[in-house]
Amino acid sequence: MTKEDKLQKSGSDRKKRRKIGWFWPLGLAATGVAGLALIALRGCWHRRMSWPVRAQGRSYQVCLDCGIKRLFDEKSFCSYGPYRYDLNELAAWDRERREHARSTAERRSSQSAGSRLG
Ligand SMILES: [Zn+2]
Repeated sequence: MTKEDKLQKSGSDRKKRRKIGWFWPLGLAATGVAGLALIALRGCWHRRMSWPVRAQGRSYQVCLDCGIKRLFDEKSFCSYGPYRYDLNELAAWDRERREHARSTAERRSSQSAGSRLG
């Protein structure tokens, strides 16, 4: 970044927040292929999601357009994870995620700097 670059960009003042946390890459990886395929196939971006519904001990949202489901975290009040039509798949994904989170928390000390995010 040079000074000239900064001057030019000052017109469009957009700040990109890159570091949202550990959550993002995990969600992206899971959503990635399947999610993009769904968008391509159905032309639905799942913008209109229902209010969270409770089922099988979890909360999830349903797309009002195509009926796909997504997990919803009541504590942080935001949806997360992949989009799936099958609730059982979501449950399995969530279970896997929790186990993964626990195992990574146990060895927090050996955290290597990951610059994979492009
Ligand atoms: Zn949808």
